[in-house]
Amino acid sequence: MNTTAATNADAAADARHLQTAAADHSGHPADNDSTIRTASHLAHSASGLLEHPRGARPGLPGDRSEFSFEQHSRLESCAQGKGHDGARYGRTGIIHTPHGDIRTPAFVPVATQSAMKGVLPETMKDLGAQCLLSNAFHLFERPGEEVLDEAGGLARFMNWDGPTFTDSGGFQVLSLGAGFKKTLAMDVTDMKNDDVIAEGKERLAFVDEDGVTFKSPLNGSRHRFSAEISMGIQHKLGADIMFAFDELTTLMNTRGYQEHSVERTFRWARRCVEEHRRLTHERVGKPYQALYGVVQGANYEDLRRRAAREIASLDFDGVGIGGAIEKRLIGDTCAWICDEMPENRPRHVLGIAEVDDIFACVENGGDTFDCVSPARCGRNGAIFTRHGRYNIKRAANKHDFNPLEEGCECYTCTHYTRAYVDHLLRAHEMNGATLATIHNEHFFVKLLDDIRASIDAGYFEELRDETLAHYYENGLMK
Ligand SMILES: [Zn+2]
Repeated sequence: MNTTAATNADAAADARHLQTAAADHSGHPADNDSTIRTASHLAHSASGLLEHPRGARPGLPGDRSEFSFEQHSRLESCAQGKGHDGARYGRTGIIHTPHGDIRTPAFVPVATQSAMKGVLPETMKDLGAQCLLSNAFHLFERPGEEVLDEAGGLARFMNWDGPTFTDSGGFQVLSLGAGFKKTLAMDVTDMKNDDVIAEGKERLAFVDEDGVTFKSPLNGSRHRFSAEISMGIQHKLGADIMFAFDELTTLMNTRGYQEHSVERTFRWARRCVEEHRRLTHERVGKPYQALYGVVQGANYEDLRRRAAREIASLDFDGVGIGGAIEKRLIGDTCAWICDEMPENRPRHVLGIAEVDDIFACVENGGDTFDCVSPARCGRNGAIFTRHGRYNIKRAANKHDFNPLEEGCECYTCTHYTRAYVDHLLRAHEMNGATLATIHNEHFFVKLLDDIRASIDAGYFEELRDETLAHYYENGLMK
C-alpha cells in the first residue's frame, strides 16, 4: 500500500539520520549500513512474511546493541517539578529495537492474544500505532509459546511490521480469582476491600517464594509460573521488549506485605536477569530481546524508591512502573522512580487508564504506556473524543449522520457516521466494534503524538492544560 511504503521510506531515512546523529554525539562509529538494514527489515519477502529482524546472526546470540534508547528533548525543571530539585523527567526520544523504532512518548495498544480484537495489524499501522503489547499468559495458554517460536516470533506470527512487547504473565496469574482491576491508577475514594479482592470467589493462584501455582481458567489444569518459566515463555514468544516476573499487590495489602513483596520481586528480578542472559546465549540466531525490570511498592515513597534502586542495580534494559497506585499519586510515583534510575533506560508505565493519567505519567518520565481501554470501551460503544467520552448507543445518535468525532482524521470518522456505528453495535455486527476501536485507538495514538510534538517544540504545559480542560469539561473525570 502506498501510504505504508511512504511511511517506511520516511522511517528508513529518519533512522539513518538519527543513527548518524547518535554516532556524532556518542563517539561510536556511524553505521554506514544502517539505511539498508532498516529498509530490508521492514520489507516483506516474496511470501508476504516479514524478513528477519535486525541483530539476528546465524549461530550467534542476539546483538544487544540493536536495542537502545536515545533521548531528544526534556521538560525543564520547575517549582512544581516532582523530582529531586524540581526535576521533571518528561522527555522525547527513540527506542531502537530489532523490529524498528518507537518514537516516545508512545501509546502501546494491547493485542492480548496476538490480535487486536476486530482490527487487523495493517489497520493499526495505518492509524499510526508504532508497537503492540501482547499478554504472555494468554499466549502460553493458547496457542502455546512453541507455536509462536516456530512462526518466528510474535511480530511475524501476527504479521505486525514493527516492535512488540509482552508482559510477564504475572498480572494475569496473580489476579486469577482475586478480581484485581487492571489499572495502575486507582481512585480509592469509595473503594472497599471487596472491590479489589472478590471474597468468596475461588482463589485460583497461590504465591510462594519460588513462584505462583495456579489453575487454568480455560480448563482447570494446574500450572506453575516462576521467574525462569516466564523468561522461557517470553523468549519463545520473541517480543522486542519483555518484562521481569513480579509479584502484584493491591492498595489493600498491608504495609508489611508490600515490603515483603518488594523484596520478593527483587529476588525474582535477579533470577529473571540470570535466566534471560542464559537464554539469550542459548537461543542463537534470534534477535536480541530487551528485558525491563518492574518497580512495585504501591503508594509508599520509600518502598518505590528502594524498589527502583534495586531494579537499577540489575542489568535490565529498561524499567516497568507497575502495581496499583492511588490516582492522585501517579505523577509522584513516576518521579520517585525516575529519581533513582539511570536516564538511558526507557520507562514503561503498565496499564494506564485515563487521559489525565497519561499526562501525569508523561510529565514525570513515562516513555511508553499500554492501555486496554480504547478497544474494550469501543466494543461497548464508549467513544473517546477531545471533549470527553460519550456512549454512541444513546438515542440521539440513531439519526446523527456526523462522524464519531468532528474533525477526527481516522478511517472511521472519514468514512462512517454515528448512526451507522450505533446501528452496527446494537445489531451486534462485528464491524461496529472494528470501527469504534479504530477511532479510539487513533485517539490515544494521536494524543501521544501530539504530546511528543509539544515537548519537542516547548508547549507541553499549554497542550496539557487545554486538552484536560476540554476533555473533562462535561465532568467525565473518573
Ligand atoms: Zn475518528
